[in-house]
Amino acid sequence: MRFDILTLFPDMVEAVLGDSIIGRARKKGIIEINCVQIRNFANNKHRQVDDYPYGGGMGMVMQPQPIYDAYMSVCEGLEEKPHTVYMSPQGRTFRQSTAKRLRKYEHTVIICGHYEGVDQRLLDEIVDEEISIGDFVLTGGELAAAAVVDATARLVPGVLKGEESFSEESHYGGLLEYPQYTRPEVWHGRRVPEILLSGHHKNICAWKRRMSIVNTFKKRRGMLSKARLSDEERAFVAELRDGAHEI
Ligand code: SAM
Repeated sequence: MRFDILTLFPDMVEAVLGDSIIGRARKKGIIEINCVQIRNFANNKHRQVDDYPYGGGMGMVMQPQPIYDAYMSVCEGLEEKPHTVYMSPQGRTFRQSTAKRLRKYEHTVIICGHYEGVDQRLLDEIVDEEISIGDFVLTGGELAAAAVVDATARLVPGVLKGEESFSEESHYGGLLEYPQYTRPEVWHGRRVPEILLSGHHKNICAWKRRMSIVNTFKKRRGMLSKARLSDEERAFVAELRDGAHEI
C-alpha cells in the first residue's frame, strides 16, 4: 500500500509517521509513505505557492498549479489514477469505517491544504473525496493526513502483530473496547478483576465482550443501536437501560 502526501510541511508529517509502529512498517517495506514538497513545483522565482483570494476576504489561497504539478509527478508512469483525497474541515468525518474503506486502495494521494485552503478548480480537477477529522479547523492538513494514514496503515496485514490487535478494538465492530489492565495485580488498592487472573480463556472472552458492551453503554450509548449484537446481548443492553445491573 502506498500513500503520497502532498504538503508544504513534510517535516510535520514525518515527525508523526516516521516513528513507532508505522515507522517500522515503512522500514520493513510493508507500507510506503512519501511526502511530496508542493513548493518544489512552484514555477516562479520566489517559489510562491499561494495568492490573495479573488473577491477579497481574509488570508491566502493555495494556487492550483504547484499542487497539480506535484500530483502529476506522483502519477507519472502509472496506468491508473490513484485515489485522491483532500483533507478539509468541509469533508465527511473520518471514522474507523473510512479507514477500512481506504485500506482497499493500493495507492492513495492525500493533499494537505494550508492558509485559507486550496483553489476550488484544483479540487474539481483531481480530488475524489474530501475527508475531515472533526468539526474544528486546523492550521493545515498535515496532522489530519497523519491521523488518516496512521489509522488506515495499521489495518494493513503485517503492520500490527495480528488481526486481533485491531479487530477487538474500539469502533472496529461497532463497540468500544473492554477495559485493559496490566501488572501489578494491585495498584493504589485497586485490584485487577479476578476473572482476568483465572486463566479460563472462554470466561475471559465472555467477560471482555460483556465489558465492551458496558463500556459502550456508559460512554457512547448511541453506538449500540448500530452495533452487531446477538439477541442475548440486546436483552443485556435492555437490562442496562432498566438499571438492572450495577455498572
Ligand atoms: N478556510 C477553510 C474553511 O473554512 O473551510 C479552512 C482552511 S484551514 C485553516 C487550512 C487547511 O487545514 C485546510 O485546507 C485543510 O487541508 C486543513 N484542515 C483544517 N481543518 C481540518 C479538519 N478538521 N480536517 C481535515 N483537514 C483540515
